[in-house]
Amino acid sequence: MTARPQIAIVGAGVSGLTCGVLFAERGFSVTIFAEQIGSATTSGAAGALWFPYDAEPAHKVIPWGLATYRTLADLAKDPRSGVSMIDLRQYCRAGKIEAPDWARGFGTDEAAEPLASFASGFSVRVPLTDTTIYLDYLIDRFQKSAGKIKANTRCEKLEDLECDLVVNCAGIGARELARDVDLEPHRGQVAIVPKIGNLTCAIVCDDAPLMYVIPRTNDCVFGGTNDVSNNVNPEPETTKAIVAECSRVLNIDKPRILRERVGLRPFRKSGVRLEKEKLRDGRSVIHNYGHGGSGFTLSWGCAQDVFELAGR
Ligand SMILES: Cc1cc2nc3c(=O)[nH]c(=O)nc-3n(C[C@H](O)[C@H](O)[C@H](O)COP(=O)(O)OP(=O)(O)OC[C@H]3O[C@@H](n4cnc5c(N)ncnc54)[C@H](O)[C@@H]3O)c2cc1C
Repeated sequence: MTARPQIAIVGAGVSGLTCGVLFAERGFSVTIFAEQIGSATTSGAAGALWFPYDAEPAHKVIPWGLATYRTLADLAKDPRSGVSMIDLRQYCRAGKIEAPDWARGFGTDEAAEPLASFASGFSVRVPLTDTTIYLDYLIDRFQKSAGKIKANTRCEKLEDLECDLVVNCAGIGARELARDVDLEPHRGQVAIVPKIGNLTCAIVCDDAPLMYVIPRTNDCVFGGTNDVSNNVNPEPETTKAIVAECSRVLNIDKPRILRERVGLRPFRKSGVRLEKEKLRDGRSVIHNYGHGGSGFTLSWGCAQDVFELAGR
């Protein structure tokens, strides 16, 4: 019997952990190397609704997204996963917004309940991954299948990793690791506030000022921003503006702020990079980064393609 290849994954955000689970549960020996783990990564700052946003190209993003939708909808049947199904109400401030074609069949409603601040909207039922639960759930699944995690480990060169195959899920870190000048940090800031009364749907408006409200198991995410910037520190003025706009839309008093989070969405101008290439020493690396504002939305579809590329 030939031994299965040893896999080294760089990154323990949603992309690295999902790939880790997929390989480890199929019997591969997998080690994840990462500076930060789970909730400490950009993935831990995400609202993490399923919805394709700020990622290219559409002809790949939509199929990866639809594959991920199916897996997350299955996971929503397991309360331990932190995944649930939620009504996402998407609004615009002027004109008429319509549900995209690919959303048909997801319990789409052409007219979301009217909200005074918006001109029109639609509603669609989508998976929501509560990052405070889901990332630990992935880590747990990975470790239960004998996956190993080397935390606080910075990888300077992909060639340094001792393994048969490298999977690069470094998010914005791939700028240095893969010397990729196409990556652009799309900075997002959010405020975490206590649960809002009986709010059970997510409210999103992509028109400026970008705003979203996402009720989770134990709290609520108020967002947001999307600017090209490397600043990973929360800006107090931005938090104030986010909380003011979300409270105005919900027609509530401004809630207490529990936490502020910032993450750098790994947007790649030429599109998500999911491809196999040779390292200088002849071994292979599969790159899986550049998911922009859709890392959760694409996670399982991309991990499946990484797995298939590994076998070729
Ligand atoms: C405010 C905000 C809201 C968002 N909302 C959504 C949403 O609703 N839905 C959605 O689908 N997506 C959303 N996103 C986008 C999503 O968070 C990202 O696409 C996703 O987190 C990218 O995951 P990743 O695992 O590829 O990268 P990351 O989560 O950034 O993880 C990268 C990993 O690589 C490690 N790493 C990097 N370089 C090195 C190195 N040299 N050596 C060792 N380790 C390294 C890091 O430590 C980390 O572990 C949002 C993002 C933000 C910021």
